[in-house]
Amino acid sequence: MNIAIIGTGYVGLVTGVCFAEFGLHVTAVDKDAERIDRLAKGELPIHEPRLAEMLCRNLKEDRIHFTTDVVRAVRQSLVVFIAVGTPSREDGAADLRYVEEVARTIAHNLDGYKVVVIKSTVPVGTGRWVEQIIREEHANGNGNRCVFDMASNPEFLREGAAVEDFLRPNRVVIGADSPQAVAILQDLYRPLYLIETPFVIASIEAAELIKYSSNAFLATKISFMNEMANLCDTLGIDVHVVAKAMGLDQRIGSKFLHPGPGFGGSCFPKDTLALARLARSHDTPVRLVETVIEVNEAQRARMVTKIVRALGLDDSASLEGTILGILGLAFKPDTDDVRESPALAIVEELRRRGAHIQAYDPAAMEQARAVLPDIVYRPDAYSAAEECDAVVLITEWNQFRNLDLSRLKNLMRRPILVDLRNAYEPERVKALGLTYQGVGRG
Ligand code: NAD
Repeated sequence: MNIAIIGTGYVGLVTGVCFAEFGLHVTAVDKDAERIDRLAKGELPIHEPRLAEMLCRNLKEDRIHFTTDVVRAVRQSLVVFIAVGTPSREDGAADLRYVEEVARTIAHNLDGYKVVVIKSTVPVGTGRWVEQIIREEHANGNGNRCVFDMASNPEFLREGAAVEDFLRPNRVVIGADSPQAVAILQDLYRPLYLIETPFVIASIEAAELIKYSSNAFLATKISFMNEMANLCDTLGIDVHVVAKAMGLDQRIGSKFLHPGPGFGGSCFPKDTLALARLARSHDTPVRLVETVIEVNEAQRARMVTKIVRALGLDDSASLEGTILGILGLAFKPDTDDVRESPALAIVEELRRRGAHIQAYDPAAMEQARAVLPDIVYRPDAYSAAEECDAVVLITEWNQFRNLDLSRLKNLMRRPILVDLRNAYEPERVKALGLTYQGVGRG
């Protein structure tokens, strides 16, 4: 079966390569010609574990092709996935301009039955809107009979574990009215039946909401735990003991109970905003989600205060003359994605207050440089620590979990470790002669 994936970002690329791995013939399209050139040569434009080898294998075996020619890709495919970005607009709503652009192109190139699937995260009602655009645009064009089915197939992969998540998902959600479209999509995912992956078949609208409510719920867990950590800081209690005991309750579950600098990335911040905005526009505010967004914003500011206090300064003191070593810029480990990264927000604020920043990230320095050109980038964790007044660990890459702390201390001007991911045990760090500050460690 021939399928097309439009948009080769984190989601489109992983989807395309994994479907090729399932044995399908995939045409992956992007309007970014440089990206397509690199992909066609087997070069990954993103950092994502396991993806490079799968990309090369499927290119070699001729199951995946990269092109900027969306017209051809649509014409030769039975299923067309839309996987373009849906960033936040100024007012918090999802910006659907790329989805609309693709919908119009598809409309002009329907020359036989197709299933048009939205994989991008889109507000409830978008599937119907796209369906209508395609019908109207097609009618205004060549006037052939317009035969297609609309479907929603939201994606739940996590950057940094995207291949694993696609190949072994917790569930696959298919939203469609047409039994034929459902059957075709189930067929695409056939290898997952062997591992007994649950399939949820829903309406298009329900599928759209499932994605937003899942992300908002996870974001809620994070913000909840961050508030508990802040309370633990005040009360002198170790939040890890609290989280562990909470997580042993199966109704709660142990995942996403880890406090830190707040959630970031290209999904949770924009999806919580879009859900809150959608709910308000339907006169049914989701106040809990609105508060989760506020708590997350406040957490970033709180982390800056934590760093300032660790330096022994007043909350509003200037940081002129202070050198800070920053470990981690990506919004999470194992990715180079810095979109809405808490690290960037924190670094920006520290810079604004006068600190000199020297940072290191194993994969995201090029991306960070585009946003923060005037900080110093260092080639490893130890050189980022040289002559620093404090080292601040913001992204918990594995290589930061087991640093030689004595070596780190000897390189620093003042031995202060601010660990915003609680990667270290406070007592161990203190025993080595460093001052330690974690999140909610009492
Ligand atoms: P991305 O920004 O990394 O990639 C989007 C790609 O679409 C870009 O390469 C862009 O050039 C391309 N594009 C835009 N308009 C195009 C057009 N008209 N024709 C062809 N290509 C076009 O985005 P992403 O992170 O892959 O996210 C895509 C969607 O998936 C979003 O809605 C996002 O919310 C959702 N999602 C993302 C993740 C994630 O972890 N990144 C997880 C689940 C869902």
